[in-house]
Amino acid sequence: MSLLENKIGIVFGVANKRSIAWAIAQAWKKAGATLAFTYQGDRLKENVEELAGTFGPDTLILPCDVTKDDDINRVFTEVGAKFGRLDLALHSVAFAPKDALEGEFVNTSREAFRVAHDVSAYSLVAIARAAAPLMTQGGSIVAMTYYGAEKVVPHYNVMGVAKAALEASTRYLAYDLGPKRIRVNCISAGPVNTLAARGISGFSEMLKHYEAHAPLKRNVLPEELGATGTFLASDGAAAITGQVIYVDGGYQIMGM
Ligand code: NAP
Repeated sequence: MSLLENKIGIVFGVANKRSIAWAIAQAWKKAGATLAFTYQGDRLKENVEELAGTFGPDTLILPCDVTKDDDINRVFTEVGAKFGRLDLALHSVAFAPKDALEGEFVNTSREAFRVAHDVSAYSLVAIARAAAPLMTQGGSIVAMTYYGAEKVVPHYNVMGVAKAALEASTRYLAYDLGPKRIRVNCISAGPVNTLAARGISGFSEMLKHYEAHAPLKRNVLPEELGATGTFLASDGAAAITGQVIYVDGGYQIMGM
């Protein structure tokens, strides 16, 4: 039997074929899961339909701006109506205004700080709250984070602060939802060349830096994030919750 046979999952954050969410969705699908996808707006509708359409007729594809509670509630109502329950949720969504990802953190505006935290951190709380009633047989919620949450990575700025909030939220959610056998974990990925990553000033330098300094002397591959996402979704991770798992070629252990 495949690892995720008979599991129903929902994936937030596919923008295109380079998206980390797409790598994890493919791995979940390959392991036997049936999936629903959300996209933010009409701009991405076609992309997501083209990619997720290859997953077969059972695939649900729904619009959802994660800053809107009505959108989130509608998505989970539709998932409940179609599948009757839910086992897995992937949060792979982040945003900060571009000017907040350049220059100095000290200049972050109140509005950029608010938006970054709303989209990138609070949305996990809102999604977990809406998902939990459908996770009647337990569940696994996985969110994507980055090392800039715990150490200063130049230019990552307010996104690092939002990721710190995301990681702390993961721990509090794990505590609240543990008695319902719902696990909540983060994957902290090394840099991957995606649409969101290209918004970070100096991103290509970051890729080179990891290649030079990570113990494995290379960058992480999207399919490796897919494999970790599948592990966290599977019963193999049944006793793992509230954790941040580094999938970064070992970069996080380095002091110099
Ligand atoms: P991506 O393909 O651009 O995915 C980011 C997704 O977030 C997009 O689908 C984007 O949609 C969506 N999003 C933004 N605002 C939203 C909103 N209000 N409502 C719904 N969706 C919204 O980039 P990615 O690199 O795969 O990012 C996925 C996750 O991995 C993020 O949490 C990111 O911080 C994290 N991560 C990335 C890296 C990396 O190096 N790439 C490393 C560690 C962690 P739009 O395109 O419409 O904005």
